[in-house]
Amino acid sequence: MRLHKGLPSVGVVVARLRGIGFCSGLDESSNPASRCDIFAHNTMNRRDAFRLITAGGAFAAAAPMKSAGLPALKITDVKTILTQPGGGDHLVVVKVMTSEPGLYGVGCATHRERPLAVASAINDYLRPFVLGRNPEEIEDIWQSAYVSSYFRSGVTLNNALSGIDGALWDICGKRANLPVYKMLGGKVRAAVPLYTHTSATELPDLEEQVRKAMASGYRHVRVQLAVPGYSGYGVAAKTADEVQKARPRGVASSPVFEPTPYVNNTIKMFDYLRAKIGFEVDLIHDVHERVPPTQALALAKAVEPFRLFYLEDALAPEDVPWFQTMRAQTSTPLAMGELFVNRNEWLPLVANRWIDFIRCHISAIGGLSAARKVAATCEMFGVRTAWHGPANVSPIGHAVNMHLDLASTNFGIQEQNLFSHELREVFPGAPEITGGYMYANDKPGLGVDIDEKAAAKWPYKNAGDSRGNDRRLDGTLVRP
Ligand code: MG
Repeated sequence: MRLHKGLPSVGVVVARLRGIGFCSGLDESSNPASRCDIFAHNTMNRRDAFRLITAGGAFAAAAPMKSAGLPALKITDVKTILTQPGGGDHLVVVKVMTSEPGLYGVGCATHRERPLAVASAINDYLRPFVLGRNPEEIEDIWQSAYVSSYFRSGVTLNNALSGIDGALWDICGKRANLPVYKMLGGKVRAAVPLYTHTSATELPDLEEQVRKAMASGYRHVRVQLAVPGYSGYGVAAKTADEVQKARPRGVASSPVFEPTPYVNNTIKMFDYLRAKIGFEVDLIHDVHERVPPTQALALAKAVEPFRLFYLEDALAPEDVPWFQTMRAQTSTPLAMGELFVNRNEWLPLVANRWIDFIRCHISAIGGLSAARKVAATCEMFGVRTAWHGPANVSPIGHAVNMHLDLASTNFGIQEQNLFSHELREVFPGAPEITGGYMYANDKPGLGVDIDEKAAAKWPYKNAGDSRGNDRRLDGTLVRP
């Protein structure tokens, strides 16, 4: 535990801070270190302190402060790595180098659909912004970078910031010789319970998949069923010729989604699965914001007897005021937040207890520094976490989810992504997944790295996917 060597005692630190006027009024009987964290590991004279107070960059003093027992630390470089291991999802990874030889951190900045925009936000704006900063000032770097663009809170800038932020937590964990979950307060559970995905075109096949998942240790399973003849979400299904023929003249060819057959089919699916499998397993279903609000409400009410673990994204972010009506009219638990990027989108839902689970995509809201506050806020209102965790999150991002899951009392469930051989080769240390649980490897920091040579074998190939291909019969766009 090299950090602790040579640290002055708390009393000495407080005396020093008092001497320069920082901790006047501190009650010595309280824990002074907890009230002066920013300074507790530093030794300063009055001139240093004055420089810090008057410098425009808060702690970006001209001469970096020395951490007691360790040399001062600076960010010396930032790299953005684009890779598609196995030809799969576009992943965006940030690597932050420091002035300490061999000490660096990694973070996830993945926005699969717009990877180049995120890379530009990092390379052209955030990299010059953080060069020379002390990577131990995670919170100040997050706050100052967040407002550095003046306009903020968009998905591109949030992802870019998440990449830097994750790397800083990784660096600080490595320097302190602590896994990140210990920096967040320590484990409140031994491992992270996961839910797995199942999907099928026929009900008996879906039932078999759920039974297999249960036999493998999963107590939570997402179920998606194809709507006969139509396109759907989370299940491979082709639009039937007779459906295409039912479209009006002049409509462009596309997969067809219609809300009414989808809602009817989904109710039928839960009726079948509960009759066949019973109520021991917790079932999840993702509406993926595809139906009008009143039909989402009708679906939530109709599936009440089947006691879902939660109904996911029943409404689109544009329709969030409807959650008040949903909460008042249905007992089906509601999960929301995959597409949120701004605190004002989720705060009313949480503070009014209109939802049961928050499931933001952590890099899209600005990374771990933002997500840990979301989790803490939700705890106050009895809302549980269910962070977004599909394939368009890098293993580094999954490790961020895991560390927060391990340290959050109000954890609900974690979406699983099984890491392929190629992903594990590119990301050594990716969390172990077995028996329906995800385990931390207890290495310092995030515990996962990127092998740049392996990543280079799977270079970025194209500009990213586009969503929103499904249309209704008459050609109206269906939200993806
Ligand atoms: Mg979803």
